[in-house]
Amino acid sequence: MLPVRLATPGRCQTGRTQLQGEVMLPLKEKDKIIIKKMLAAGCCARCVLRFCCISVPAAYRQRRQDTLEQLCAFVEAADDDSREPAAPEESEDSREPAVKRAKVEVAEEASVCVLCLGVLQHLSDVPQAVKIADAVTKENYEVDSLVLSMSLPAQLCVREHSCWLHVKEQVRAKCGLLGKDDVVQVKEAFKWVMQDLLAKELGGVAVVTKSGLEVSVGFTHPETDADCHFLATSCPDCFKATKNKQSVFTRMAVVKALEKITDGKFLKSTPCPPSRVSSSCTPQDVQCAHVAVFVAGRYNKFCRSLPQTPWLIDGERRMESSVEELIAAPVLAAFRADGFNFSSSGREDVDVRTLGNGRPFAMELLNPRRNQLSPDHMKKVQQTINESSDKIRVRDLQMVSRDAMSRMKEGEEEKTKSYRALVWTLKSIQPDDITFMDHVKDLALDQKTPLRVLHRRTLAVRRRVIHSMSAVFLDAHHFHLRLKTQAGTYIKEFVHGDFGRTKPNLCQLLHTDTDILELDVESVDVDWPPVLPD
Ligand code: ZN
Repeated sequence: MLPVRLATPGRCQTGRTQLQGEVMLPLKEKDKIIIKKMLAAGCCARCVLRFCCISVPAAYRQRRQDTLEQLCAFVEAADDDSREPAAPEESEDSREPAVKRAKVEVAEEASVCVLCLGVLQHLSDVPQAVKIADAVTKENYEVDSLVLSMSLPAQLCVREHSCWLHVKEQVRAKCGLLGKDDVVQVKEAFKWVMQDLLAKELGGVAVVTKSGLEVSVGFTHPETDADCHFLATSCPDCFKATKNKQSVFTRMAVVKALEKITDGKFLKSTPCPPSRVSSSCTPQDVQCAHVAVFVAGRYNKFCRSLPQTPWLIDGERRMESSVEELIAAPVLAAFRADGFNFSSSGREDVDVRTLGNGRPFAMELLNPRRNQLSPDHMKKVQQTINESSDKIRVRDLQMVSRDAMSRMKEGEEEKTKSYRALVWTLKSIQPDDITFMDHVKDLALDQKTPLRVLHRRTLAVRRRVIHSMSAVFLDAHHFHLRLKTQAGTYIKEFVHGDFGRTKPNLCQLLHTDTDILELDVESVDVDWPPVLPD
C-alpha cells in the first residue's frame, strides 16, 4: 500500500500537490454531475467550467490539462465523500478511497469540443494571440488600450441549449436550478483567456472593456451550419429574410427562436447532448476599427472658382479641387485616417468668397490610426494646409468632441451672416438713390425656393429677415451693398429677384433691374469652434 496522506473529510481534495499558479476551483457538489456528463459528452475542460458557473478568470487561463485533472480529481473525491459522508475516525476502510484518489483517472478531453467547437481549446492560445497582435501591429495604431470583441457561429447557441437541457434535469434533482444565464458565455471565457495573452504580445497595450479601438475576431464552422436550420420550421417568425443579411440564421434570430421553442420540440429535432464534430472553427480575418475623431476650424476662401465639395457632373470632375479636399489631405495624413466626412455652418457657391473670420467647419475622421494630436501638432497641420494653396486659409484648427460638432448645426437658422455684394443697375443711379438702404431694418423676405436649387430642394416659401443694409456708391451703374441677414437667406435672389420669386427684392426697392456681379461672405456669426490664440 502506498503511503498517502488522508483527505480531510468534507473538503475538496485533489490528492495532488498544488502546482504553482494552479487555481483552486470553487467547485460545488452539484458540479459533480455536470463534470461527469459533460466530459462524457465531449465537452472541453473550459466549457465544463462555464457550466459549473465558475466566473474566476484565472481558472480559464490555467493550462487546460491542469483544469481537466482538477475536475476529474474532484469528481472522484466527491464520489468518496458521498459514499462516506463523515469519517471522524481514520479506519482501514477510510484509507481505501484515499489510495484511489492518488491515482485519479483523468479523462481525455475531446479533440474538438462539441460546445465551443474548439474556440476555447486550440483557438484560445498563444498562436491565436500572436495572430491578433500582428493584425493590430500591422495597422500601426497609436493607442494604449483596445477592446477585444468576437463573433461566434450562430449554431453554437443551439449546442449550448442542447447541453444545458442535457445537464439541467440532473442538477435540479440534486440541488436546485441551473439557470441558463448563470452559465458563463463562451465569449466571456474567450476574452478572459485572450486578454492576458494579447496584452503580453502587444506589450503595453491594455485589453479593456471600453476603448476607442475595437479588435474583432470572428469564427465560422461550416461543418455545423445546418445545426440551426430546424428552428426555421418551428419558429418561422424569427427568420425573416432581409436584404442586407447573408443568412437569416443570425445569432439574434437563433437566440429568439430558442427562447420560444419547447424543450420537447427541441429534443425531437436535434441531438442532446450535441453531436460530435471533426473540425474546429475557422478563424476569420482580424478586423480593427477605431472610433472616429473630430476636428474643427474656420476657413476662408479667396477664390471665385473653387467649389466647397468636389464638383462632379456625370462622374466627371468640373473643378480641379475643392475646399474640403484642400483641408482634408493634410488632416487625413496627420491622423492616418481611412476617410472623412466634412460639414460646415452653411456653404457658399463656387463663385462666392468667404472672408473675415471664415466659416466654421468640422470633419469626422474615420478609423484614425492616431487619435490625439497636441495643439502644437495641430498648428503644424494648419500651417501645412495654408502653405499648400493660396485659395483657402484655415484658422482655429483643433480637436473637438462629437457632441461639440453637432452644436455647429444647432440653431443655425437663428445665426446671422454678413455679406458684401457688387451690384449692377440697369438705370443709372445717383449716390442719393441708394442712401435709403442705410436705414432699412429687419426687412422680412418671402423667398420661394430659387430656380437654381429647385432640383435639390423642395418647393416652399421661406421667410427670411435682412437685419440691416448699407450701400456704397461706386459709379452710375455699380454700388457695393453690405447686408446682415438671417442665415439661410438667398442673397443673389434678393438682388435680382429671381423672376419675382423673392419678395420684396432689390429691383422693386430701386425701381430698376439689378443684378449681382460678385458676392463675398464677410462673416458667419457662429461662436464655434473656440478662437485659438495665434
Ligand atoms: Zn469547449
